[in-house]
Amino acid sequence: MVTVKNAVIGNGSLTVIAGPCAVESREQLLAAAHRVRQAGAAILRGGAYKPRTSPYSFQGLEAEGLKLLAEASAQTGLATVTEVVDEASLELALEYVDMVQVGARNMQNFHLLRRVGRSGKPVILKRGFSATIEEWLMAAEYIVSEGNEKVVLCERGIRTFEKATRNTLDLSAVPVVKRLSHLPVIVDPSHATGDRSLVAPMARAAVAAGADGLLIEVHPEPCKALCDGPQSLPPDEFDALMEELKTVAAAV
Ligand code: PEP
Ligand code: MN
Repeated sequence: MVTVKNAVIGNGSLTVIAGPCAVESREQLLAAAHRVRQAGAAILRGGAYKPRTSPYSFQGLEAEGLKLLAEASAQTGLATVTEVVDEASLELALEYVDMVQVGARNMQNFHLLRRVGRSGKPVILKRGFSATIEEWLMAAEYIVSEGNEKVVLCERGIRTFEKATRNTLDLSAVPVVKRLSHLPVIVDPSHATGDRSLVAPMARAAVAAGADGLLIEVHPEPCKALCDGPQSLPPDEFDALMEELKTVAAAV
């Protein structure tokens, strides 16, 4: 069980983390924050440091993005999470957010993992694109071995030969991790599929498979998103999904 401000992950109920891929502006983040809170999300996500595949893509607002996350948290009461990419971004994020995220691209950045471990801050550790479950759990061990047990594992899809989806969601990782580890495990159907029409079915399946939570990208206007618009849910679709998930969660 991991406590993040007033939210808990791994206590038997479903915890939803939602928000835009990237913090783009004050208006965009606050609009997203209010809508995801109304829909029942417990934690607001938003990237301030974006490790993009292309160096020419939007790289994030950095420190300004972190400050906007703190403002959104103050307005809504939501806990916040943001990705850190190196020691400098971690140091700054520790001041402004309640939880940090180590992304798929940094899952085996062992120096960063140790540093996150020493920080004691709750952390989402995403599974690397090509990481086995064992490698992923060993990466978590780097954090835990420094004295930080507040680790939440996030399955976000792995690389396979299949091209119909951005990644292949390995849902069997949920029960496998539950058998091997006591750490909570959440699922990110947004990055797993890369396609908003697939987010709801995979979110429902993740809950049915026993996930402790979900990480879902929500943007007030996905068509204008600077990052990951095609997989982001508009707020109305997120509302509908949250309603459906109540039924699935009650049946698990
Ligand atoms: C993200 O959650 O914003 C992200 C970049 O995800 P991943 O590291 O899983 O690609
Ligand atoms: Mn994204």
